[in-house]
Amino acid sequence: MEQEQKKIRRIGVLTSGGDSPGMNAVVRAVARTAMYYGIECVGIRRGYQGLINSDFVMLTADMVRHILGRGGTILYTARCDEFLTEKGREKAVGTCRMLGLDGIVAIGGDGTFRGALELSRLGVPVMGIPATIDNDIGCSNYTIGFDSACNTAIECIDKLRDTMQSHERCSVVEVMGRHAGFLALYVGIAVGATSVLIPEHELNFEHDVVERIQNARLAGATHFMIVVAEGVGSAFEIATKIKETIGIDPRVTVLGHIQRGGAPTGRDRETATRMGYYAVRAFAEGRAGSVIATKEGGIVEIPIEEALAMKKHLQMDRYEILEAIAASGTLRK
Ligand code: ADP
Repeated sequence: MEQEQKKIRRIGVLTSGGDSPGMNAVVRAVARTAMYYGIECVGIRRGYQGLINSDFVMLTADMVRHILGRGGTILYTARCDEFLTEKGREKAVGTCRMLGLDGIVAIGGDGTFRGALELSRLGVPVMGIPATIDNDIGCSNYTIGFDSACNTAIECIDKLRDTMQSHERCSVVEVMGRHAGFLALYVGIAVGATSVLIPEHELNFEHDVVERIQNARLAGATHFMIVVAEGVGSAFEIATKIKETIGIDPRVTVLGHIQRGGAPTGRDRETATRMGYYAVRAFAEGRAGSVIATKEGGIVEIPIEEALAMKKHLQMDRYEILEAIAASGTLRK
């Protein structure tokens, strides 16, 4: 005889780790879908810290109105060292029991999913949703916030280009991406950078920077744009090296946290809404323990442990494309 499925009455939702535009859109979709299924939704504040401290708020229809297009996260986000300890996690499970949570939707990156895996091992059903501007979650083609961050960086660099062009200068722009160059490469292609330095490509300063600038100069370019992913090294060091080697004096811009802010783009709002919906629908249909991921445009559920083991590699053809397009400028004259 089939076992009767446990009725889900109340779930929690939290945002954890680094924030990204579109997190609010997920929170809204989770709360709204929960309402649709007759499930109560509790917002846990400050990621896993809120589970430990019982820091929560009931998410009513009013609470999630008008947040679809707002950057940041109304639930706040945090990194929580206490959750790395057994005692901390026990407290968190205690809060889940006290609140009568039948499941948690955890929105964040790999660290957040490692925490989610621990929670599910302790008997709390969890669904993960990938949200990070780095797009470096192995199991999912796309992560919420990436498109918005790219567009923010592109907008800033377009403005920089105007002034660099007026003064015929070289610009070194540092974008986020400690371990992955998705953001830098995408942005570099979109702004027509002279060169993009990413962690996935071992830096050959002479070839990747000096020759590129020299070739561009020979082809008639009077200003140069070097985009550096922060994982490669400091933009200031790259600029100093350019000055020492070529004798031009680059201006450095570190875009920093501005890339994490701003209204999410249409792509991020739409993906966030779909992911939030599918996470709650999984709970409502009696499933848990997975990360919601995009695959070939569709949405799939991947068991958290499997998801954490998956690796995503930057498509290096993009690097080759950038190189080809930048180098072709040398034939212009
Ligand atoms: P992100 O989710 O953006 O990758 P972090 O790596 O900072 O961000 O992780 C967010 C939080 O997830 C951490 O502060 C911690 O509370 C929790 N977490 C990360 N790794 C683990 C782990 N191995 N076990 C339990 N919790 C973890």
